[in-house]
Amino acid sequence: MSLKNQTKHIPLRRCISCRQSKAKDSLLRFYKDANNNWQFDKKQKMQTRGSWLCKDSLNCYEAKSFKKYFGQSHARIFELIKLNTNFQASNRTC
Ligand SMILES: [Zn+2]
Repeated sequence: MSLKNQTKHIPLRRCISCRQSKAKDSLLRFYKDANNNWQFDKKQKMQTRGSWLCKDSLNCYEAKSFKKYFGQSHARIFELIKLNTNFQASNRTC
């Protein structure tokens, strides 16, 4: 491992809905707990496989791929988003 080339490395994660890669702080992280329930990973540090979603992106929360990915849990995920962020569904941008 070389420590040269210390240009700022920003790890990118891909939104499961729109499939765009973004920096972690532009995304929300979710994981499944031991009971197989989706949880919001506020600190993005849980040692479990996480799934990422764009922050403040209604398009991503309404996309078919979002509903398909989370299945019956998609409404719960949407609730978690509203509980844990300042997201307002009324702030529709398009
Ligand atoms: Zn997205």
